[in-house]
Amino acid sequence: MLSDSSLAFLKRLLDTPGPSGFESAPAKLWRDEAATFADVSNDVAGNSIAIVNPTGSPTIMLAGHIDEIGVIITYIDDDGCLFIGPIGGWDPQVLVGQRIRIMGKAGDVYGVIGKKPIHVMKPEDRKKASDISDLWIDIGATSREDAERLVTVGDAGVIDSRTIDLPNGRIASRSIDDRIGAFIVLEALRRYSTQPGAARVVAVATTQEEIAYQGGGARVSATRIGPQMAIVVDVTHATDYPGADKKEHGHHKIGGGPVLTRGSIVSPVVYALLRDTATRLSIPFTIHAAGPGRTPMRFTSPARVLRLRCYRSRTATCTRLTRS
Ligand SMILES: [Zn+2]
Repeated sequence: MLSDSSLAFLKRLLDTPGPSGFESAPAKLWRDEAATFADVSNDVAGNSIAIVNPTGSPTIMLAGHIDEIGVIITYIDDDGCLFIGPIGGWDPQVLVGQRIRIMGKAGDVYGVIGKKPIHVMKPEDRKKASDISDLWIDIGATSREDAERLVTVGDAGVIDSRTIDLPNGRIASRSIDDRIGAFIVLEALRRYSTQPGAARVVAVATTQEEIAYQGGGARVSATRIGPQMAIVVDVTHATDYPGADKKEHGHHKIGGGPVLTRGSIVSPVVYALLRDTATRLSIPFTIHAAGPGRTPMRFTSPARVLRLRCYRSRTATCTRLTRS
């Protein structure tokens, strides 16, 4: 189902750094790909918009956020060590020991995350979790002046990792949340472009989801596009990992098909449409009972909205692709 060229595009999209507010590079990649089959534009909030059948009706919006979590340089000390703050929600333990790719003023700068060695810690501190303020990035600089030749306070970075192929049609990547959603909505639009119906279909790669409390880019784009229906694609947690609490999070395993969110914050009409279509086409799916989920809460528009958790992450990195 997924062509070799689409898979190659997905991997380029996943590997291009784009923390919230700094997502212009993957957004440009997305627009360049969209321009091969759709009308493309962008807006002041950085959202990328691709339209097929622009004079059609009704308007259906498909949205996935293109930003990812990252870090931002907050301070550079006299020894040239870079102190950082989070962009988006981090478990700081994930950062310890990682290689980091900073988007510096003259190009990418690489470093490693350091923390106080366990050998010199007091015994009572050894079992304590690290706070992000306990960590720093070492880029090999000898002084603040040396570091400032390459980076400045306010530069952003991501974990330096590339997408890897795993067995059983699975991949691992740092940015699956939610580059995969931005990819899926564009792939859906690509397929619609080969046989358009009556609807104006708009795919949007939205910005700033990981940090925004007022809707981020999705709110701006929904207001501008004015859809009658919107489907939001984001990741959710698979529960086939050791220690998962299925009573709280449901039973969702990688390879089990899309997860449809159902609940007070989503449209029962759109939910029923997707459920019935999946049943008719024999597409397996599972249902997630919605709590106060972030993406749909932020996606405020008059449209009927459903958050379609189409691909799931396990340990936030692994997803399964379907290939023929
Ligand atoms: Zn997300």
